[in-house]
Amino acid sequence: MHSKQEHKLKVFWLQGLTCNGNAHSFLNLDYLGELLEKTEFLQHPLLPSKYALSEMAECKTGCDVLIFEGAYDPSLKRAGVFVDKILRHYAKNAKYIIAVGTCASFGGIFKATSPQTNSGILFNEAEKNGPLQEYNAKIINLSGCPVHPEWLGFTLNMIIDRRKIVLDEEHRPQELYSSLVHHGCTRNEYFEWKVDANHFGEKEGCLFYKQGCRAPMTHGSCNTILWNGVNSKTRSGTPCFGCTESDFPRTNLFETKTNMSIPADAPVGVPKRAYLTVTGIAKTFHIKRLEEPLIDYKNNT
Ligand code: SF4
Ligand code: SF4
Repeated sequence: MHSKQEHKLKVFWLQGLTCNGNAHSFLNLDYLGELLEKTEFLQHPLLPSKYALSEMAECKTGCDVLIFEGAYDPSLKRAGVFVDKILRHYAKNAKYIIAVGTCASFGGIFKATSPQTNSGILFNEAEKNGPLQEYNAKIINLSGCPVHPEWLGFTLNMIIDRRKIVLDEEHRPQELYSSLVHHGCTRNEYFEWKVDANHFGEKEGCLFYKQGCRAPMTHGSCNTILWNGVNSKTRSGTPCFGCTESDFPRTNLFETKTNMSIPADAPVGVPKRAYLTVTGIAKTFHIKRLEEPLIDYKNNT
């Protein structure tokens, strides 16, 4: 186990083309103060840091963990220096490189704005041909728009405790991304019986059939590790946009693409024909309890 007397983990948080969403999301980590006792931020865009960005851009020091936020853009400069140069200098000596957010992992929204030049640092959408191929073995992708603060906290603690982090094919920790976002949603019973939510924010119904919910096709633990320890999008009645996947962003985020009124995409691993059969059968049942409001506000004044 790590003790405070030991060497603190030296972390450099470098930004590519970004909206700062991941840097802000990290500030919501429940145990940020505790984590900061075990880490030393050489530079972070928002937290107190040992060095200014201009000093880090001189490339005269090294770090244990390089965190990269935002899409890779070969023409981007920070503190007057090409980000590509800074990135490669620190990547060389770091033990781990963490791509935080979907832009750093796969290109994300900033890839969509300039598809010819921008990408993630290891992946370009689903293709593994980003600029840091030579550091493949030490890159961890924490996709999400933004990254869940607990996912980054978990990963840094695993590194501090020198524990093995098992990754999936897209370099995401399996502890965090092996299950689907659908897992743990409070609406699973409505999903099983194909009862639709007709409006956002309602307590009742599933958002898969009409409102564009991508959770059955999206890897992540948003419904088991809740945001701020309290809630998730789907629990509160908003569809999951599938922000952890390499094809994010998509268009028409609030609509479900359908074939003959059945969702065109089946949940991951479920054969389309089986899904159509089960859906057809489930829709023939009418479970009164699930079709009624959970709380009868009108008759309870
Ligand atoms: S709202 Fe989304 S996450 Fe919840 S049960 Fe329906 S499909 Fe699954
Ligand atoms: S619920 Fe879906 S859209 Fe929201 S953060 Fe999780 S994966 Fe992204």
